[in-house]
Amino acid sequence: MGIGILLYHPLLAWSLSIILSVINNDNLRQWNGKKKTMPKKQNELQPLPPAPLVLLDRDGVINEDVGSPGIISVSQLRLTPNAGRAIGRLKRYGCSVVMVTNQSSVGKGLLNLNELNTIQQRVQELLWEQDEDATFDRIYQCTSDDPNHPRRKPNPGMVQEALQDFGRHIGASSSSSTSTIASCDHRRRTYMVGDTSTDLQAAAASGGVDYRILVSTGYGRTLMTRKGYPLDIQYHHDDPNGRVEYPVMDPVWIHEVVGIFPNIHPSTVPFLYCQNLEQAIEYILEQEKEQTSTRSSAGVVVP
Ligand SMILES: [Mg+2]
Repeated sequence: MGIGILLYHPLLAWSLSIILSVINNDNLRQWNGKKKTMPKKQNELQPLPPAPLVLLDRDGVINEDVGSPGIISVSQLRLTPNAGRAIGRLKRYGCSVVMVTNQSSVGKGLLNLNELNTIQQRVQELLWEQDEDATFDRIYQCTSDDPNHPRRKPNPGMVQEALQDFGRHIGASSSSSTSTIASCDHRRRTYMVGDTSTDLQAAAASGGVDYRILVSTGYGRTLMTRKGYPLDIQYHHDDPNGRVEYPVMDPVWIHEVVGIFPNIHPSTVPFLYCQNLEQAIEYILEQEKEQTSTRSSAGVVVP
């Protein structure tokens, strides 16, 4: 039996694909957070059904941000309010949920890969403690500290990997989410939730994310706060007086940042500003239910 026959044996090919998926990365390209004692299976390398896709940044979105140099110990981990329950709701609705995170502490020598994996595992455990459905379909992490690395946000490489893995188109402009959304109702939507401008920049540059959502946890509130004003008040450019006060509980669409929020890149607009991940996921589910209702009433079979 030749080696070629062996390589084409389905079981062997499947095993090799798993090995290659782990090796082919910048230190650890995709990590699925699997732990033998945990009850939930990951969908690693299984056929992926069409489903809404939600990409989540980690620090400042899923867990509280601790400032520079970031989480380097499990003892620093605290989830944002109801993060596990919210992710569980997404999963039960049928969404694919992935983590897309820069973890440059590894590249800087502050963590090694085993320590990072331990932290990632603890994040997953904390989520499961709230909701056993709160599982990531995949985890994408860039461990490089090189700002020019194509996978490191705000560069789009890591986001594009996720989009391709989950069957999304990339390359079409998403400079305007609202116009993109209007033309994409025939397919399942893609969402990115982050707490920094770089998260939204990566989503915009990827050419395949329909909704960009900024949360006020982590760095979000700092980005959306003008010097001298209370932290829990946001401002909207459409107001004739130059500002409108919004209760922090209400999500608000931001259509312009130039001259208003100087630390947010112009490519990120429009984006939705939410209080936290729980509120962002509530919005996502509302959108999905609305789309499902519309498609069902039009006679479209919704997967
Ligand atoms: Mg973050």
